[in-house]
Amino acid sequence: MVYDDFMLIDAHSHINFLPFQQATQVIHSCKNVSGWILGGYNPKEWMSQKALKKEFPDKVWTSAGLHPWVVGRLADDELYEALEQLQFFSGHVDFIGETGLDKNFDNPENKQEESFKKHIAIALNYKKPLLLHIVGRHRDALDILNAEKDLVQRSVNGLIHGFSGSWEVAQHYIQLGFYISIGPGVLKKNFKKLRDTVKKIPLESLVMESDSPSDFSQKRYLGDNVLPEIISYLSEARQLSAEKIKNQMVENIKTLLTPIEGQNVR
Ligand SMILES: [Zn+2]
Repeated sequence: MVYDDFMLIDAHSHINFLPFQQATQVIHSCKNVSGWILGGYNPKEWMSQKALKKEFPDKVWTSAGLHPWVVGRLADDELYEALEQLQFFSGHVDFIGETGLDKNFDNPENKQEESFKKHIAIALNYKKPLLLHIVGRHRDALDILNAEKDLVQRSVNGLIHGFSGSWEVAQHYIQLGFYISIGPGVLKKNFKKLRDTVKKIPLESLVMESDSPSDFSQKRYLGDNVLPEIISYLSEARQLSAEKIKNQMVENIKTLLTPIEGQNVR
């Protein structure tokens, strides 16, 4: 793939939550964003990613995953069936996820943990990077990740999306080969911890995202404005030119999108 005219890549988006025609229009009309990494939600949603990928093979990167919001709501047999589908679908996508742990959502019988471990096993088996969604449970998530010897040895393991934690926590993910993806939260004054973190984090470990639309009820894509705003914010916070920050983020995305060595070819 040629990356010459790389603009900004939205490292975490759900433009496929929009109706197909509208998502197509978004992709055609964006002035600042030229690529989208989509986060997986549930099996039905994977199909809408596939449709967009077919239309825009060089602009859309797909994933398959059962979102932690979904996992706790599934009955045992439904979860088992969805994980079977995931196994089948995973050879045909760029990333595995979203997966992880979210303290604000149902987690009967530790279903989130069970699903998370299965996603990791699949990502290792198919040699694909992971998209992590971790809210309020970083310690447990890091324990699960660190227990996977093969994962610890890989140099690029994916990204943790919508990160808002401390610099100390961020360092653990970086050590494990994850990029820290920061979203529009950093633009808000009350996200003090995140604002402190982004001052300390090496630029080589950062990517940025709109997480837009973040659920099915939102009808617009905000990333074309949000991503330049994040760059402006970082430029001021880090006292570096916007150009330098943008260029480094482009480099990071290129590394992230480089297939993991020995990746099973689609
Ligand atoms: Zn998401």
